[in-house]
Amino acid sequence: MDVMEWFRLEGKRALVAGASRGIGLAIAEALARAGAETVLASRNLAALEEAAARLRGEGCRAEALELDVASRESRLRAAEAAGAVDILMNVAGINIRKPMTDYTAEEYARIVETNLTGLFDLTQAAGRGMIARGRGKVVFIGSLTSVLGLPYASVYGATKAALAGLARMLAAEWGRHNIQVNCIAPGFILTDLNREMWQAPEMREWLKGTQPLARLGAPEDIASLAVFLAGSGSDYITGQVIAVDGGFSTTSVWPFEPRA
Ligand code: NAP
Repeated sequence: MDVMEWFRLEGKRALVAGASRGIGLAIAEALARAGAETVLASRNLAALEEAAARLRGEGCRAEALELDVASRESRLRAAEAAGAVDILMNVAGINIRKPMTDYTAEEYARIVETNLTGLFDLTQAAGRGMIARGRGKVVFIGSLTSVLGLPYASVYGATKAALAGLARMLAAEWGRHNIQVNCIAPGFILTDLNREMWQAPEMREWLKGTQPLARLGAPEDIASLAVFLAGSGSDYITGQVIAVDGGFSTTSVWPFEPRA
């Protein structure tokens, strides 16, 4: 058999929520290049249109769609406009780093609405169509904080742990409809979300002493798994939280070397 079939997405329609830059853009580009008719959605329509036009220039099928996941009206309108999708990538997310005791009610509500409630609604809308057609792939972009604690991102971490839980719950509920639901937990991936934080030399030094694959990740490191989870090669994988983190969440690195 042709093993590349496991990764081919021709004949599939994909919606990427949060596709204007960073991880979402890399995922949208990869899905389109794997053959999916890809809808790039987020608030920055100009950036999406530019990316979609670039992909069409490569011979891919791609279109832009305005979506503010933090607005119920916008997300329901976008879900309707996107139509029947076979693949849903829930990527959109925001973070505000501060001590837990300092969050305002407005900040809490904004993060939860964007990272969790908005993606719940989108998944509900896309899921109804997937159930009717008897197939589908849903991927949530969680985080290291889906599985472990880190300081100064309590609201973000709570939403990301909830996405991992939602992936497991939907995997259980929708397995009978041949819908696979998984969660990717990216580690430290250099994007606009954290570029400033990683400027500090002490942060880079800390990473070297902590993580076995001691570089920062790139959005493409996530996109390759996203393509796999969208294709038939992952048809028996569901309800998983899969870390793409250079080993951060599962290993420790010591300066100790054994003597010869
Ligand atoms: P990014 O470069 O800041 O991109 C965030 C994306 O989310 C943008 O496309 C943005 O599009 C979209 N977005 C934000 N708010 C939105 C809204 N209200 N409606 C629609 N789209 C919205 O960040 P990134 O690092 O690529 O992050 C992507 C996802 O990966 C996030 O969920 C993040 O939590 C997760 N993640 C990132 C890392 C990392 O190290 N970078 C690690 C773990 C998890 P618009 O601004 O155009 O709306």
